[in-house]
Amino acid sequence: RPDFAERIAIRLGAAAQPPVVHALDGVDLQVRRGEVVGLVGESGCGKSTLGRIIAGMLPPTEGEVYIEGVERRTLAGQAARRARLNTQIIFQDPMSSLNPRKRVIDIIGEAPLAHGLIARSEKRAYVEDLLVTVGLDPSMAGRYPHQFSGGQRQRIGIARALAVKPEFLVCDESIAALDISIQAQILNLFMDLREQLNLTYLFISHDLSVVNHIADRVVIMYLGRIVEEGTAAQIFDSPNHPYTAALLAEIPRIDRRHRTFQTIKGEIPSPINPPSGCHFHPRCPFAMDRCRMERPALRTLADGRKSACHLNDLERRPDFDLNEKGR
Ligand code: SF4
Ligand code: MG
Repeated sequence: RPDFAERIAIRLGAAAQPPVVHALDGVDLQVRRGEVVGLVGESGCGKSTLGRIIAGMLPPTEGEVYIEGVERRTLAGQAARRARLNTQIIFQDPMSSLNPRKRVIDIIGEAPLAHGLIARSEKRAYVEDLLVTVGLDPSMAGRYPHQFSGGQRQRIGIARALAVKPEFLVCDESIAALDISIQAQILNLFMDLREQLNLTYLFISHDLSVVNHIADRVVIMYLGRIVEEGTAAQIFDSPNHPYTAALLAEIPRIDRRHRTFQTIKGEIPSPINPPSGCHFHPRCPFAMDRCRMERPALRTLADGRKSACHLNDLERRPDFDLNEKGR
C-alpha cells in the first residue's frame, strides 16, 4: 500500500543519517618500539576502531596519528608507503581474510612482489622461508587455504603480514576464533617472532587473561575511553580502576579462594547514548553522586600508572585488592 511504502521510505531516510557515534573519546595511546601493549575491553568499547586507526585503515574523524614523531597525513610518496607497510593488522578470522581461490604462494608472495621488495624469481624461496618462520612446512606453498586447519591458516595470515617486512603488528582478537590449545601455540609464535624480528605489538583482546601472558603494558578501555593503563604487573596484581578489578575477577584463579569483587553487573550501555559522568557508573559498585555528574580524568598516579576514577581523590579508597583479601 502506498502509505506503507511511504512510511518505509521515511524511516529509511532517517536511518541513512545515523546519530554521530564517537567510538573513541579523548583517547591518547602511545606504543613504544619493541613493546607489547595489550588493549583490553568488552566488545563495542572501541578497541577495534582504535586498532584500525593506528594501522592506517581508518582515518580518525578528529585527532592525529604520529609515527616516530611525524603525523601520518603529512607523509607522502615513499615515506607514506613505507609507513603503510610498516604496520600490519592481523584479524580474528583467518579464513575470511585469505582468498580461497589463491594458492598460499600467491597469498603471501603477492604484496612483497607488488611493492618491489622481492623479484619474481625470488618469490618461491621468499614464501618458503616465511612459511618456515611461522612454523609451517615450506612444501605447502602450492596449497589452497581450505587445505589447512584454523591454526595453520592463522599462521598463513601472519606470514602474509610479515611478507612486507613490518615492524609493528596490530593483532585484533587474532587468536579468539581458535581452539584453546591452538591459541597458546599462536601466542607463542607471536612472542618468538617478537624476539626474532624485533617486532612491536598492539595486542587487542576482550580477554584479559590472554594479554596477561604477553603484554608489557596493558591499556583498559570502556565505552570509547581509556580507564586504566599500567604495566602488566600493576594491572594484574593491583588493579586501580573498579572496571579493571571486575575484569580480573572474571578470570578464574586457583589461588583466589574468595571472590572479593562481584563480576560485572548489567549490560554494556550503548555507545550512542553513553551514561553521564563516568561511563562505568551504572555498573560500578563504588559509584558516588560525583560519578554520575563528572567525567573522571585519566590521571597519572604515584606509581606511574594512569587511572580515571574519582575514588583516587578520596582519602581512603574502598579496598578491592584481589590478591590480599580472602586469603
Ligand atoms: Fe566507579 Fe565512580 Fe570510579 Fe567510575 S569514577 S569507576 S563510577 S568509583
Ligand atoms: Mg572488535
